[in-house]
Amino acid sequence: MSAHPAPATPQSLIRPEVLALSAYHVADASGMVKLDAMENPYPLPEGLAAELGALLGAAPINRYPAADAQALKDAIRRALDVPAGCDILLGNGSDEIIQLLAMAVARPGAVLASIDPTFVMFRMIATFTGMRYASCPLRADFSLDLDAVLRMLEAERPALVFLPTPNNPTGNPFARADIERIAAATPGLLVVDEAYYAFGDSSFLDLPARLPNVLVMRTFSKLGMAGLRLGFLVGAPAWLAELDKLRLPYNVNVLTQVAATRLLDSYDALAAQAATLRADRSKLADALRAIPGTEVFPSDANFLLFRIPRAAALFDGLAARGVLVKNVSRAHPLLADCLRVTVGTPAENVRFVAALREAVADLG
Ligand code: PMP
Repeated sequence: MSAHPAPATPQSLIRPEVLALSAYHVADASGMVKLDAMENPYPLPEGLAAELGALLGAAPINRYPAADAQALKDAIRRALDVPAGCDILLGNGSDEIIQLLAMAVARPGAVLASIDPTFVMFRMIATFTGMRYASCPLRADFSLDLDAVLRMLEAERPALVFLPTPNNPTGNPFARADIERIAAATPGLLVVDEAYYAFGDSSFLDLPARLPNVLVMRTFSKLGMAGLRLGFLVGAPAWLAELDKLRLPYNVNVLTQVAATRLLDSYDALAAQAATLRADRSKLADALRAIPGTEVFPSDANFLLFRIPRAAALFDGLAARGVLVKNVSRAHPLLADCLRVTVGTPAENVRFVAALREAVADLG
């Protein structure tokens, strides 16, 4: 009788590319001024919290959620200019939509492409789904090098391209003409990721109705609903019908559907908070620029990227003073000595700048 094979271990069984990954890192923010994750710092608008409490209390959590979440999709259409001929696909955060898109096109050898530096989940999800990741570096000022992107598209022939505008962690938006050139040169799908649309002037929601290989992805995470986990994709019904087959049933839970539907009917109140953050962003940029040696990059998002000598030590100095920002200085060579700070309430912003000044003085 042959001996039983040795039982599987994680090392023997899990794919090597997964073993090599580090899990998406979330810093412990307990007790800190939390300016690391682009959350909206404001509580729900007056009266809405109580109203939501009643709505959520009455929500039928003993039942599976509405599978098509039609009421929520209708609320999105009432709040935003989704073109009439386009459909909406909902995700448990836009992270889930990135994964759905990758799963749909991940044939052996297929390429997922983006720019560099950008949101890390594009690369991670390429790995999750067995796709090869290709990226095109931005210029040193984080602008798009269109010719380099077009060359990359030609060389790599990606099935799926993600272009976030404004970009994370750099904050700058890209030009419509460049996006349209990229769409025309992309052999697969171009997904314009407008996670930060609420804090700038551009909207590309019109593109999917005009360009056959473009989809637009957004999230409500930055607009005060990060905890609800809700992102959406806008595009031609023919694309979304295929993607919908890969969506796990009931991916948007009952409480999220009820809460987001109600909140979107108060969209103006959420947009007003975004407008406040946008105005405070320029005050924060001015305060940062007043610190000698600091370079602040232009931002159309609810965060600022800035370069400051000894950034890693200053990140620690800020943390020691109870302020959590994101240290991106080792994420990419173009980000050397860069930190990213989310725009908070005026009091949080003042506290952050004071802590940074102290930390700078401490380093001498
Ligand atoms: N796209 C970009 C560019 C982001 O920065 C983020 C969040 N940081 C996301 C997508 C994902 O957002 P969520 O899953 O919360 O919708």
